[in-house]
Amino acid sequence: MKQMMIYNTLSRKKEPFVPVHEGKVGIYACGPTVYNYFHIGNARPFIIFDTLRRFMKHLGYDVTFVQNFTDIDDKMIKRANEEGTTVEAIAEKYIAEYFKDAEAIGVQRADVHPRATKHIGEIIGLIKKLEAKGLAYRVDNGDVYFDTQAWRSNYGRLIGQNLDDLESGARIEVDDIKRHPMDFALWKAKKPGEPFWKSPWGEGRPGWHIECSAMSMKYLGETFDIHCGGVDLIFPHHENEIAQSEGATGKPFAKYWMHNGHINVDNKKMSKSAGNFFTVRDISKEFDPEVVRMFMLSAQYRSPINFSRDLMEQARAGLERLYTARDNAQFALEHAPEREMNGEERAFAARAKGFMDQFDDAMCDDLNTSEAMGVLFEYVRDMNTALADAKAPSRAAIEAGLAALNTMAHDVLGLLMKEADTVPEDVKALVQARVDAKKAKDFAEADRIRAEVLEKGYIIEDTPKGPKVKKA
Ligand SMILES: [Zn+2]
Repeated sequence: MKQMMIYNTLSRKKEPFVPVHEGKVGIYACGPTVYNYFHIGNARPFIIFDTLRRFMKHLGYDVTFVQNFTDIDDKMIKRANEEGTTVEAIAEKYIAEYFKDAEAIGVQRADVHPRATKHIGEIIGLIKKLEAKGLAYRVDNGDVYFDTQAWRSNYGRLIGQNLDDLESGARIEVDDIKRHPMDFALWKAKKPGEPFWKSPWGEGRPGWHIECSAMSMKYLGETFDIHCGGVDLIFPHHENEIAQSEGATGKPFAKYWMHNGHINVDNKKMSKSAGNFFTVRDISKEFDPEVVRMFMLSAQYRSPINFSRDLMEQARAGLERLYTARDNAQFALEHAPEREMNGEERAFAARAKGFMDQFDDAMCDDLNTSEAMGVLFEYVRDMNTALADAKAPSRAAIEAGLAALNTMAHDVLGLLMKEADTVPEDVKALVQARVDAKKAKDFAEADRIRAEVLEKGYIIEDTPKGPKVKKA
């Protein structure tokens, strides 16, 4: 197996990836708060870490991928009130919408999609452990906080600052009921009109950070391989996850922390107030959602990425080149002679292996999709030339070419999701009838059939190798 290198936010350097359990990888990705359609800022981590999962499978690991849904928090409650419905109904609605958009951008379902409200028992259990260890305290109103003072020497490792520095920069609220500015809520006492659950500290609901600690450890174990999310989650969310998890278990939590860079829109920070805030649903009115995936993979995940119409157009053109290469090869396959590969074809098949090797090397270097994409396009150029129409390539050569293309573009990068249009049997029969009519020099009949095929929604294009049929 190739050695993957991962930039670990915790150590601030690229490290060789060594799994906790040989041959297996556990990945936890922070998922969406399901109160709306997701925007392109959310789409980036979904696409990147889906690609990480695909690539690790491709390397041969047995991957368990967990991505949560935050289905209880202030935004959920606000949205439910605005729409005059329940938090649960909002969650159901936007989880269903998440799956639609995720599928459209090629993001596979996680092995587990845990929801916070379905893990209240685990969350309470974890808070009880922290309380027993003197790392959590309840205040009079029923809130429970993590005691950062009691975790002083360990807090701030992920962000790379100590507690003194963090405290000096913290804003202190006048009416704060917690003991220290960096302490954070594990459990929030119920307020009127909010959903609540019973707990040893009174009725209330879990804080945001604790749900990810509870659910990641439930499904991946107390120590697992990779925890990932957007760069904006490093602090406080992921720092707090480490404090809660390691505080409760006394064991290392995630070994590797991967964070994707943020996304700008036309070189400006994306925000609702600036009017440059797009959901994937908005973009899909203008672009095929697969173009969003192509665009996101064009940059290495840690660098910031700029979303603009020009770059989306470039991504669209790139994706089209991949589809054209695949569809041409598939068409050539239908007419390809069944014979042994000749010398030139064997050389091409060997180069295809070499390209795949280079592609894997790029991906092993901290998931450098940008470089991997470069290798893929170089390969496509080579394949197009090697399988060019005039040469009548053998079936074996085309199959080798397609296999390499599909491994890189489809299996690993999650592109080329759409199958080539399959031509219905009745249309195929008409196309054959037209070939026969032309052979019999009955050109009037051939033209009539062409018109009939067009009426059925297909265009016939005559090529030196025979008719090519496309959707009109
Ligand atoms: Zn999280």
